[in-house]
Parts: sequence; C-alpha cells; structure tokens
Amino acid sequence: MIEPFRYEPQPARVLFGEGRLDELGEAVASLGGKRALILSTKEQAGTAAELARRLGDRAAGTFSRAVMHTPVEVTDEALAYLSERHADCLVAIGGGSSIGLGKALALRTDLPQVAIPTTYAGSEMTDILGETRGGEKTTQRSRKILPEVVIYDVELTLSLPPRLSATSGMNAIAHAVEALYARDGNPIIGLMAEDGIRAFGASLPGIIDRPDDLALRSKAQYGAFLCGACLGAVSMALHHKLCHVLGGTFDLPHAETHAIVLPHAVAYNAPAAPQAMARVARALRTTDAAGGLFDLATRLGVPKGLKSIGMPSDGIDRAVTLAMKNPYWNPRPLEADALRKLIANAYEGSAPGT
Ligand code: NAD
Repeated sequence: MIEPFRYEPQPARVLFGEGRLDELGEAVASLGGKRALILSTKEQAGTAAELARRLGDRAAGTFSRAVMHTPVEVTDEALAYLSERHADCLVAIGGGSSIGLGKALALRTDLPQVAIPTTYAGSEMTDILGETRGGEKTTQRSRKILPEVVIYDVELTLSLPPRLSATSGMNAIAHAVEALYARDGNPIIGLMAEDGIRAFGASLPGIIDRPDDLALRSKAQYGAFLCGACLGAVSMALHHKLCHVLGGTFDLPHAETHAIVLPHAVAYNAPAAPQAMARVARALRTTDAAGGLFDLATRLGVPKGLKSIGMPSDGIDRAVTLAMKNPYWNPRPLEADALRKLIANAYEGSAPGT
C-alpha cells in the first residue's frame, strides 16, 4: 500500500553535463536578460570575469564580494551596484555564498537568476535564503528566491580542493539523509535521496585521491543536484537545526560542521527511523547508517570533532540549551541527556552512539 503523499517539485530548469556552461548566453536570453550582473566570492573573481567575457554585451558587470551567510551589508552594496549598472538578470557562480547573494538580490528585485554551482552545497535547488543581520542569521522561503535556471557544468568543480569537496559532499548527503525521514517526505524524493547518497558514496573517496577525475566529479555533481532537490522539497530536522545552532553560536564553518555532526545526528535518530536508516546504509553499501557515514567522513579526512574547528569546550551545555529551546519536529523527540551525548561525541570526534 502506498501511503498518501504530496509532491511539489521546485520549478527550475536544470542543465546538467560537461560543457553546459556554453549555454549561459542562451539561458540569460531565455529569461529576457540583456544586462546580467555576475556574482561571485573574491576567490572566484577570475571565474566571474571569464563569464563576463563569454557574455559580452549581455554582461552588465561583476560583483565579487559574496561571503558566507549572506550579510545584509554586502547585499546592500551589491544592490547599489546592480542599480548603477541597470542590470536586468543575475548570474551567480560559486558555492552557497555566491548563490545566496544572488537569492538575496532576487528577493529584493524579483530579477531572474541563473545559478552556476561549483560546490556540492545544494543552495541552487532551493527557495530558501539564510541572511545575517548584526551577527544573527534568519531563514526565509519565497518563490522569488528560487533560481530559474541552474547550470551544472562538471568542469567548474575540478578546482574544488579535496578537503572542500569532502565537507561539501557530506553537507549534501545530510540533505538526503534528513529527506528520507522527513515528516513531509514522499516516495519520489526518497528515490532522489537514496540515489544522491549512493552517487556521493561512490565518488567522494576517489575524488580525494584524484580530484581531476571527470567521471568521479560528474557523479558527485549529480549527487549534489539530487541532494539539493531534496533540501528544496521537504523539511529538515535535528541535524540541520543543530548545525544552524552550532554554526551561528560558535561561528563554525558551514560545511565542516555538517560533515562532523551528521553521523552523530543519524545515530540519535536511528531507533526512530529504521527504514530511512536501511536506505542510507544500502546506498553506502554498509549495514549501519551512522557507522557508514562516520567511516566515510574518516576516509575523506573530514576534521576530527567540532573541537578541531573552533567550538569551545564549555559550549556543549549552551548548545544543548539552545537546541532544546525552539522545539521542532524530529523523528525522535528531543531529549536533553541524549542530545548532550550527541553533541559531546561530535565535539570529541569519537564514534557515533558511543
Ligand atoms: P562557499 O560558497 O562559501 O565556498 C567556499 C569557498 O570555496 C569560497 O571561497 C569559494 O569561492 C570557493 N569555491 C567554491 N567553488 C570552488 C571551486 N570549484 N574551486 C575553487 N574554489 C571554490 O561554500 P558552500 O559550502 O558552498 O556554501 C556555504 C554557504 O551556503 C553558507 O552560507 C550556507 O548557509 C549556504 N547554504 C545555503 C543553502 C540554502 O538552501 N539556502 C544550502 C546550502 C548552503
């Protein structure tokens, strides 16, 4: 018997494959764009300039000051530049930072967006925007935020350093894992989630040794698309909320925090979501979801424990209090003692559930 479900795919056009960046001009034109503003971080300013060269007359300028967590001050600067350049379309190239800036501008101007992801974070497939004002991060959803066109060109991921590939890939896997036990999950997203995890499990270890292997990179990018679609389609639970609290409270790096916490959050939820756990384990070709994720993170050289990425030792109790403060749905109810054990394990980097 198939359980009743609701399936509401995000209406974006996805262009996937080697060389797809050649279709950027057409994508901009298809959105009615005559003057595209190109957005990136300062580290990827060279790539943004290359896109401007490709777009020729259709490029209105480049803004290469995107940073993590989309501070509103940066958005305001970009907004002023956008209006000075009379831009009528946005092209964001990079990871969640560049794409987040594009979304923040689209929310304010309703301009159409082309997102060109170069990490595996998945922001390009969601209508979610996290913004920071005065150090505080708030999240909102809107149809204006969702990019209209997403171009996945594998060649752009070849330069993603192995360490970032590992943490970004684990960040993506987390979207799929939580989609498998989401309260509003559905069978279609379930297929995408399991296959997304499978694609990463089969590609990330090889990428660490051979970062310029096109076939492995392509598989990982396919995983990123699937996992990003999961994040955009269904609600996340404990793992994402916990990473939000930990990242915001202790200013921890986004992808690393996800990569370290994931096996522990999965161990916590395992007793309450056996079917989801079986699918995660099957996708990773193992018998235990939490153990399989921990082994994968170890194999990928993910930093050992939150203590190694800047969480203070006296932060564990504070994190538990904050995590318990705003209750939300999770397959296993939130229990302070068990949560404390989860966070302490993630802090130390010890095996999940110990
Ligand atoms: P990022 O965008 O901050 O990128 C990290 C660094 O890697 C940057 O310096 C970037 O320029 C560089 N980089 C990216 N791709 C590269 C490549 N191919 N080669 C070389 N360098 C490259 O990191 P991220 O993890 O992709 O994004 C994190 C941000 O995205 C956070 O602010 C997070 O909250 C947000 N996010 C939002 C959503 C959403 O749905 N709203 C989803 C996931 C992440």
